[in-house]
Order: sequence, then C-alpha cells, then structure tokens
Amino acid sequence: MPDAPHNLRFHSISKSFPGVRALADVSFDVAGGSVHALMGENGAGKSTLLKVLSGVYRPDTGELLIDGQPAAFGSTSAALAAGVSVIYQELHLVPELSVAENLFLGHMHAAGGVVRFPAMRAAARALLSSLGESISPRAKISSLPIAQRQMVEIAKALTRNARVIAFDEPTSSLSDREVDRLFAVINRLRHEGRVILYVTHRMDEVYRLCDAATVLRDGRHVQTFPSLKGVPPGDLVARMVGRSIADVFRYTPRPHASNPNAIDVKDISGKGVHTPASFSVARGEILGIFGLVGAGRSELLKILFGATPARSGQIFIHGKPVHITSPRSAIRNGLVLCPEDRKKEGIIPIRSVMENLNISGRRHFSPLGFLINPARERQNADTFVKKLAVKTPSLKQLISNLSGGNQQKVILARWLSENIRVILLDEPTRGIDIGAKSEIYSIIYNLASQGIGVVAVSSELPEVMGISDRVLVMRQGALVADIPRNSPDFTPQNLLQHALPVAIHAIQGAA
Ligand code: ADP
Ligand code: MG
Repeated sequence: MPDAPHNLRFHSISKSFPGVRALADVSFDVAGGSVHALMGENGAGKSTLLKVLSGVYRPDTGELLIDGQPAAFGSTSAALAAGVSVIYQELHLVPELSVAENLFLGHMHAAGGVVRFPAMRAAARALLSSLGESISPRAKISSLPIAQRQMVEIAKALTRNARVIAFDEPTSSLSDREVDRLFAVINRLRHEGRVILYVTHRMDEVYRLCDAATVLRDGRHVQTFPSLKGVPPGDLVARMVGRSIADVFRYTPRPHASNPNAIDVKDISGKGVHTPASFSVARGEILGIFGLVGAGRSELLKILFGATPARSGQIFIHGKPVHITSPRSAIRNGLVLCPEDRKKEGIIPIRSVMENLNISGRRHFSPLGFLINPARERQNADTFVKKLAVKTPSLKQLISNLSGGNQQKVILARWLSENIRVILLDEPTRGIDIGAKSEIYSIIYNLASQGIGVVAVSSELPEVMGISDRVLVMRQGALVADIPRNSPDFTPQNLLQHALPVAIHAIQGAA
C-alpha cells in the first residue's frame, strides 16, 4: 500500500437509458482511507454509478480520475486492471469453480504454461485467513453461503490490489454476526488507504461504518458530506427525499407529561428478552424502541401481547394489573399489536378491505356479540377509508391488492375505531414508500392524541427519532437506555452507541 491514501473523482458523469436519465452530470470526490456512503432512494442512480465505475456502462459524458489520473474505462477488465473492484448485490463468482480458481481467474499462477495449483491454493488460503476466514481453497463456490462468497469476492479484489472497492448493499442477506465480520474487514480495508464506496439506504449502517456520504436523487448529485460527525440522520433523509425532515415526520409535541400511565411494564422477561425489562408509557405518549436487528425488540412486543409466554414480570394497564396469557386476552385488555410482517400476520389477504377494517370492530356493532349490522359496517369502513385516504378502488377490493402503505392504513384504522389503550407497532413503515410513510405517521400521532399509549419499534434511526417522544434502546435482549426527545443525549451517534453489541465497541476502540 502507498504512503498516501488513494482517491477517486467522479467528474461530470451522465448516463441515459432510453427514456431515463439515470445519471445527470454527477461530480464528487471520494477520499481513500475512509468509508464513503453512497445514498439515495430506489432509482436514484446508485447502481448505475457503480456500473460506470466498474466499466459495465460507458458514461455518455464525463470521466473518472483515480489518484488524479483519468481512467476512462470501456470494459470491466480495463476497470479491474486500473484497480477497481465492485462487490455487487448479485455476486459475480463462477459457482462451478473452486475458491482458489475464482480468486485467480484471469491471472492464474502459471509456470511454463502449466497452472500451479498448489501455489494458488496456498496463496488463496493465506489471503482468506488474513480476512479471518477459514474457507477451503478447494471448496466449490456453489457450496458456500452468501457471506463466505462475499469474502471470496473481497479476497479477489485484494489479489488485484484494488485501489477502489465499492459495495452495493452488501448486508441485505447477511446475519448480524456476518455483518459484524464484514464491517471488521471493511475497517481493515479503510486503514489500508483504499477508496471504499458503500451503497446503502440503511441509516444505522451509515452511522456505524461510514465516515463520509454522498446523496444522489433522481440521478443528480445532491450533496457530499465529507464528514458525518454531527450530521443528523434527518439531514440525510431530507436530502434523499428532497423534502425537509419536518415535512416527512411532522412531529408536534403532544402534552402528555402529566398524563397517567397507559401501561406499566415491570420486570418482563421471556424468549429473546433475557434481562427483565421495566418501563412505562403515558397516555398519549409515543415511545420508540430502537435497536439492531435481533436485539429482542420484536420479542419484547410479542411477550407484552401474549403471543409468546412471559417468564417473569407484571403488566399494568391504566394502573390495574392485567393477566395477559394470549393475544385474545391482550386485546380484551385494550392492548394490540401491529406486527412486523403484515402479509403473514397483519392482514387477512383473501378478504376485502371492508372485512379487514372491521375485524376487530365486530363486537362494536353487535350488542349481542354475533349479529352484525352490515350497513353500519359499511359506513364505518367508508368513513375510515376516506378519513385516512386509503387508495382502493372499492371497499370490496381484496386487501392483498393494495400497496403496503395502504394495507398498513387499513390495519391502523381498525384500532382507531376501537376503544384501545395501548398499541404496539413493529416496524410500522417497513417497505412503504416515503409519501405513504408520512401518512402513517399522522395516523400514529392521531392514535396518541386520543390518549392511547404508543410503543413503536423501528430499525430506522431517522424514523425512531422523528416520531418518538422518548426512545428506549435495546441491545442483546436487554433495555440499555431511556432517552427523552428533549435530552442532549438524543443524538443518532448516542442511540447507535447504545445499540451496538459490546464486542463492536472493542473493535472500534482498537481501530
Ligand atoms: P438505484 O441503484 O439508486 O436504485 P439505479 O441506478 O438502479 O438506481 O437506477 C437509476 C435509474 O435508471 C432508474 O430510473 C432505473 O429504472 C434506470 N435504469 C437503471 N438501469 C437501467 C437499464 N439497464 N435500462 C434502463 N433503465 C435503467
Ligand atoms: Mg441499486
């Protein structure tokens, strides 16, 4: 590695496809020795930019400079020769060949025209073990899990002595532990002075891994943040969506400080929640729960909802002890859960919008408990569909034909028409586009202003910070922090610090 870090410059890059301007005059610099996030909503042009970088596409205009030298590649092999490696979402190894063969494909160790397999295997083994992997060089790529294939891709970049390594959403199919290992390797690449571009739309990854960030929107360069220190995630989101963060979340403080509690949770534990958890939510308060995937957040909600048995603890709703042994008893006590997986648990896909809206309302419309008044049901459904602007051609439409955002509105509308006291929301806007997210947030505020205690789990830092009055942080099955919105500790860096596993603190400290 050289004494000075490498650097990369995109200069005035444009690329059009028939009918689409995928990149329009994009210019920015990426400094080596740091991890540079490339961010933007779907269709912003991130993947196209990486394909220009790796020579898959030739740009219509503009050029790339690596270490100040123009590197106008027309082909992937030219890009490789210039020291650029891109680790794509869909990996590009040859599945039928061995690890060693893939690593040295195109530049086999040969002597007198004979490929020297033992030397290649030894080199492969050494390289992989330097990345902390003990993968056999003889293993067929097709026999390896994704995370290991990715490591082989990275090793391959190292055999080429890559100056620039770009990752396109590399964590989408990795487990937590695999993500930790990948990040440790990326940290090493950073220290070696390479240029690292990291495409993601996940805010927790950006704050955990990246030093700098560039935001693209509609194929245009919006802003480069040379340092993310002190940059709130809201600023990044606002840049990505082209609206101010206040417009996305429209948070307005609701006076709830002097309200009595909607729910008190005392020493609850169970599957996934190893350390007994205690907290309270006031009537009208929105409590966010932040944590990395696997921290135990969904498990905590399931225990409260009676979907998983509690090992210990006690729940009070409106001050009275309740005994929740099943979702049915939770609902009877006014506590409901909107689950993370809407398709599997939230909706009844083969039923209409109206039926889905009225599932919980049935009791309401029939004093006898079994006679249903169809006219009132229709009226109720109609009212909510209008009030929440659910986009559906009719009340009879199958709910599974609606977009994710509109399905979620229907699910939330159920509870608006009910007399509930506490609502638990698990990733309420996952997979929902930004416009519909805003509408979901207003429904959540609406629920809170009716005096309902709201608990919202989210993996998205901007969301959890954007809508919550107070945030609890969960880590490895325990509640580890409780931070009100008006506290000086209410910062993305701080929330993330609490959420990270202890082992990562050690890695980062050592780095
Ligand atoms: P991102 O990776 O940020 O989601 P992309 O670079 O994949 O965005 O896409 C940018 C725009 O270019 C989108 O409008 C997309 O539909 C379009 N696009 C990308 N690749 C092609 C292609 N091969 N042919 C036509 N249009 C494309
Ligand atoms: Mg993409």
